Amino acid sequence: MQISLKGQVAIVTGASSGLGAGAAKGLAASGAAVVINYHSQPEPAQKLAQEIIDAGGQAIAIGADVSNEQDVEKLFAETLDAFGRLDILVANSGLQKDAAFADMSLEDWNTVINVNLTGQFLCARAAVRQFAKQDIRSEVSRARGKIIHMSSVHQVIPWAGHVNYAASKGGVDLLMRSIAQEVGEQRIRVNSIAPGAIRTAINTKATSGDAEKKLLELIPYGRVGEADDVANAIVWLASDASDYVHGTTLFIDGGMSLYPEFRNNG
Ligand code: NAD
Repeated sequence: MQISLKGQVAIVTGASSGLGAGAAKGLAASGAAVVINYHSQPEPAQKLAQEIIDAGGQAIAIGADVSNEQDVEKLFAETLDAFGRLDILVANSGLQKDAAFADMSLEDWNTVINVNLTGQFLCARAAVRQFAKQDIRSEVSRARGKIIHMSSVHQVIPWAGHVNYAASKGGVDLLMRSIAQEVGEQRIRVNSIAPGAIRTAINTKATSGDAEKKLLELIPYGRVGEADDVANAIVWLASDASDYVHGTTLFIDGGMSLYPEFRNNG
């Protein structure tokens, strides 16, 4: 199966690092023009855009805070100025502010919900509004547009010490499925990716040294994931190869969501 996203334009939020950067590289390697959204650090985003351009692709870095409505409007407007249309949104931005539940501040609760859930709402809404203005180009894609939400295994696995994060990702699940139910007849495809433990900046501590050994006990497949494991799934979900996949969460977790504690007879 060969995947081509030639002639399509993708926005990837939070793409200056980790899974977002991996997704941007994967989409660009498949032929899409890519908008690399960053929050506070333009340099890595601009460097990644240049790498993609040097490899013969199309890319631009655009700053925006996904939890800010005006910033999101600006991100989409600048995308249209640069590339004239939008076909794919990867709503990837996310963060953690961890604390024991009794000690969690309202500020840390709000920050995580604002970025991880409201940010997904604002970006998906802007994408749906833009898709609705565009005709389907069946020679390029069977869908009018595609949205991929970045969720987590913690949309189903409760997570002590991270209740804001788990609540945000649980919210992403019903956000995604409700949008999918509503916009499917416009031929807008909406799905989520739920990664398990993937080696990125968000979990450096958990994926190195002794902590990694402990983490592996939670992964039946026996290895920590890499950004490419997720990028490959994103490229597939963005392509016509998955055209009948709608309203689904694809778990990329080496089996982390399989209740691994029960593998030795409980
Ligand atoms: P990361 O920290 O490298 O990436 C997060 C990105 O989000 C960063 O580029 C950051 O700048 C961006 N971001 C943060 N606040 C933002 C804001 N207000 N506006 C715009 N961008 C903002 O970590 P990552 O692992 O690549 O995480 C990417 C996504 O994957 C997150 O949604 C995370 O919850 C999810 N995820 C990661 C893992 C994992 O194991 N790495 C597992 C499950 C889910």
